[in-house]
Amino acid sequence: MAKPLIVNVVELLRWPGSKKEVSANIDVADFEFADARIIDTPIAIDLRLESLSTSIEVVGTATLSWAGDCRRCLAPVTSDLVVDFDEMYQREIIDPDAYAIENDQINLLPMVRENILLAIPIGPLCREDCPGFCPHCGLDLSVSTCDCDNSVSDPRWAGLESLKGILPDESV
Ligand SMILES: [Zn+2]
Ligand SMILES: [Zn+2]
Repeated sequence: MAKPLIVNVVELLRWPGSKKEVSANIDVADFEFADARIIDTPIAIDLRLESLSTSIEVVGTATLSWAGDCRRCLAPVTSDLVVDFDEMYQREIIDPDAYAIENDQINLLPMVRENILLAIPIGPLCREDCPGFCPHCGLDLSVSTCDCDNSVSDPRWAGLESLKGILPDESV
């Protein structure tokens, strides 16, 4: 259990407007992500808690590294990611998106975990204009060019193309 992410908020709740900073480097293992994309290097957490009398607002960032495969050419992609947070903890949950304050404590870990998983790109690109593979010969177009004519539509669809106008649009 990542102790630095469990914060006693008795004092904060007592003094609306009061703030508390939480900064920690947390081992990836503590999050139990079960997600191979997240690189096993400590995640830097920087959060600011602010008391709003019955709730606590948490804003800040988590900085981590992730790895994946380019969705076009399958080359390995690694990148750093800064995830922004702006979340609410409440004693009595009024906002359905809020997290619970339990026994005068808040556990930041599940909130950080959730936001990180949502922020990792699902279909990353090795670079914005990655050309991927040639649809005809399968050559990696980032490495070299082929003689295939990629300007015409894929021949597999040419037959369908000629049916356009004959069949109703939905079936094409
Ligand atoms: Zn690529
Ligand atoms: Zn080709």
